[in-house]
Amino acid sequence: MTSQQRVVVIGGGLAGLRFAARLGPAAAVTVLGEEPHAPYNRVLLAEVLAGRYGADVAALPDPGPALRRGVRAVRIDRAGRRVHCDDGTAHAYDVLVLATGSNPVLPALRGLLRPGGGELPAGVHAFRTMDDCLALGAAAGPGVRAVVIGGGLLGVSAARALAARGAHVVLAQQAQRLMERQLDADASALLHAHLTALGVEIHTECRVRGLTTTDTPSAAPSGHRRVSGVELADGYRLAADIVVLACGVRPRTGLAQAAGLEVRKGVVVDDRLRTSDPAVHAIGDCAEHAGRLYGLAGPALEQADALAATLTGSPAGYTGTRALTRLTLGGAGRPLDLAAFGDPTPLPGDDVVRLADATRRTYRKVVLRGDRLVGGVLLGELSTVGALARTWEGDEPLDAPYDMFHLLTDDGGH
Ligand SMILES: Cc1cc2nc3c(=O)[nH]c(=O)nc-3n(C[C@H](O)[C@H](O)[C@H](O)COP(=O)(O)OP(=O)(O)OC[C@H]3O[C@@H](n4cnc5c(N)ncnc54)[C@H](O)[C@@H]3O)c2cc1C
Repeated sequence: MTSQQRVVVIGGGLAGLRFAARLGPAAAVTVLGEEPHAPYNRVLLAEVLAGRYGADVAALPDPGPALRRGVRAVRIDRAGRRVHCDDGTAHAYDVLVLATGSNPVLPALRGLLRPGGGELPAGVHAFRTMDDCLALGAAAGPGVRAVVIGGGLLGVSAARALAARGAHVVLAQQAQRLMERQLDADASALLHAHLTALGVEIHTECRVRGLTTTDTPSAAPSGHRRVSGVELADGYRLAADIVVLACGVRPRTGLAQAAGLEVRKGVVVDDRLRTSDPAVHAIGDCAEHAGRLYGLAGPALEQADALAATLTGSPAGYTGTRALTRLTLGGAGRPLDLAAFGDPTPLPGDDVVRLADATRRTYRKVVLRGDRLVGGVLLGELSTVGALARTWEGDEPLDAPYDMFHLLTDDGGH
């Protein structure tokens, strides 16, 4: 790669901006970012919504004029090596990087969209962007009734943040327990108790069937409707001023698909983060590597770093990320820290070390198969998370059960 080469990045989020920063002056980089805001880290949006941080704390380093804010790429012309944008501009590239992130999944709810699509009813928000966060923050407050649909990482974060704003929050979770993909039953129960203590009313095994809406004055941009409630599958109706859709995310692959690139669940990339067109790369939430979609910040950053290194001559490539999920759920004087990785549910023959303290509301568990960690959860007591993360991410062999015990207590076994 030379400094004359034109690199265009589509997406000014975590992965795209990190890649641009890592590449530095090695090439002429243009980042196309459809969001009008100064760059920000969406991992911190829940803290902004909770009022714990101002939006400035979530800021990412701004690459200056290299970032075209408020500009959406609408078409990739692979034959002509140009990206066409909604403001009429076209950007020629030698190397194109897709870093388009994810879209929130819109669940199939009666009353959510009118036949043929259109806007969501006023009061209904996803929880993905700074705009979502600012709109929710403006609407939430004491006496406001909020229903959060989904009890995964996003739903739990949103529910806690809205409760911190004084809203009356009901969380409707279709699965049997909260964060069922990351936590085992005991850790989920502790999280449930923590959120309940923060004032969140939690309904598990609770399927939302539809929304009820009322008409609003014709000037509203939402197709003249405002949400008034949520209908559950058992016929019960919850009144709602705000509804948050936290039903997962889907990689944003439309541009890649229209350009004829290979797309399965995400944009398929190889170990050099190349798509089926060697001039086009993909990183972050939109990329599918070795059959895996991550949807997490750590892998997005690692892919951005790996691609910048690859393009500047490193032979190392990208072999996957063993990521830890981290979350802090604040409460007045009672924050709950959580870290989870791999699969915390043991198979027959696995070794398990589990330390639970009901009084201090802490829970620590690791699962070992042979001499390798395969999963674990830390809740409420994260003093060994650094050592555990290093062991997990490095896939280091362990001397069980001695090392495992130490991974949960003092010195990480090293
Ligand atoms: C509320 C919230 C909390 C989260 N918490 C955690 C957490 O605790 N831990 C964790 O690991 N992960 C967390 N995540 C996930 C994490 O934020 C993502 O994995 C990460 O942001 C992925 O980075 P990305 O650059 O791939 O995508 P994004 O950060 O989503 O950036 C993609 C950008 O591309 C732009 N874009 C898309 N298409 C176009 C186009 N055609 N033209 C121009 N621009 C375009 C989008 O507008 C967006 O700004 C959280 C996500 C959310 C929403």
